[in-house]
Amino acid sequence: MLYACPCGCRTVGRLRFRPDVSGNPSWEWDGNRDAPTLNPSVNHVGHWHGWLRNGEWVSC
Ligand SMILES: [Zn+2]
Repeated sequence: MLYACPCGCRTVGRLRFRPDVSGNPSWEWDGNRDAPTLNPSVNHVGHWHGWLRNGEWVSC
């Protein structure tokens, strides 16, 4: 999925959902499109690190 960096800089990042065979980092998605939850935490390097929980970005 594509997401805008939660820090507010408008950088767009990309997350892969599992299963992913490319060997790149990937995330477990709960299947909820309206209020997604991802595991593990998202680290937008140098910008922001936290969790997407029930559709909300939660800084850690
Ligand atoms: Zn940012």
